[in-house]
Amino acid sequence: MTVRLSAVVPCFNEQDCLHELHARLSDACRAAVGEDYEIILVNDGSRDGTWAIMQQLAARDPRLSAVNLARNHGHQLALTAGLALCRGERIFIIDADLQDPPELLAAMLARMDAEEAEVVYGQRRVREGETAFKKVTANAFYRLLSRLAEVDIPRNTGDFRLMSRRALDVILAMPEQFRFVRGMVAWIGMKQVPFLYDRAPRYAGETKYPLRKMVRFAVDAITGFSTSPLRLASHAGLILAFLSIPLMIYVLSGWALGHTVPGWTSVILVVTILGASQMVMLGLLGEYIGRIYVQSKARPLFIIQDVVSHQAAPMAVPLGYLMGGAPKRPLGEDGDMAVAASRVREVA
Ligand code: UDP
Ligand code: MG
Repeated sequence: MTVRLSAVVPCFNEQDCLHELHARLSDACRAAVGEDYEIILVNDGSRDGTWAIMQQLAARDPRLSAVNLARNHGHQLALTAGLALCRGERIFIIDADLQDPPELLAAMLARMDAEEAEVVYGQRRVREGETAFKKVTANAFYRLLSRLAEVDIPRNTGDFRLMSRRALDVILAMPEQFRFVRGMVAWIGMKQVPFLYDRAPRYAGETKYPLRKMVRFAVDAITGFSTSPLRLASHAGLILAFLSIPLMIYVLSGWALGHTVPGWTSVILVVTILGASQMVMLGLLGEYIGRIYVQSKARPLFIIQDVVSHQAAPMAVPLGYLMGGAPKRPLGEDGDMAVAASRVREVA
């Protein structure tokens, strides 16, 4: 049983937003696809009345499902839980605080159809009601990330986006523990188009991202999409090795000319050679650790977007080619094969 659209909302201490969210999001879904939608609210271990309100809403509205996580797992994992449970052909991700207007849904769907995109991601033109500190740190973070990350992660985006089932299935086949969802979406490739919008202030309550969580989020993002911090030692090692050559010439010529006290030459030589070679060795370890790390994330090796072939339409595209390994879908039906086959077009 699928629906045309799933809206997935992670919620942490959002009791004052939920009624308004439910009303506006339901209207937006109805305006976009009629009655064939579902809303999944995920309670991420809230300590206020969030779960009680969610249960009331779920009792009243057959299209709404409320999911209660056993404790606070953090925004990205709460979102992942909702994504794993949803059944929609299209998936709309939105925060509970109504900073991202649900009313944009219809336009985003239209854009997705018009451009045949797999992902339409919201990109912020302005951020209202956010502190200068948040804007400056967010800006610095996205700059650093785009320098370090192996894939282009678009700036000024959050998780506010619309995704196809195909794109979501690839995300769900990525078993990594530390999940930076917007980076994972960028990583899969396929056609992704930005949708510019203005971000409103929070409807109620205050940000659930204090500095501590922001730092952890940034570290997850950078380590999840870059192993270049591990290369620091390699670079330092190379620079040190390079610098030690003139230093050694200076030390040896001082010794040859008899300008030094006994012992100085040998001590400086040992320190220089050991320092440089240790750095080089650390860099070497870093390279291997980086490879172990990447391997341990067990991401698909590659993702095939389309196959055009003379073979009959449901040509068995081995899942290995689509996903680069047996897909590990936490939940769901046997939709993976259908995903592969649906995009294999026979040459007429
Ligand atoms: N959130 C969550 N778990 C957390 C922190 C936040 O599910 O541990 C949710 C929160 O309820 C909201 C979304 O993640 O729906 C984004 O949080 P917030 O709006 O506070 O972040 P900001 O917009 O300030 O970056
Ligand atoms: Mg917010």
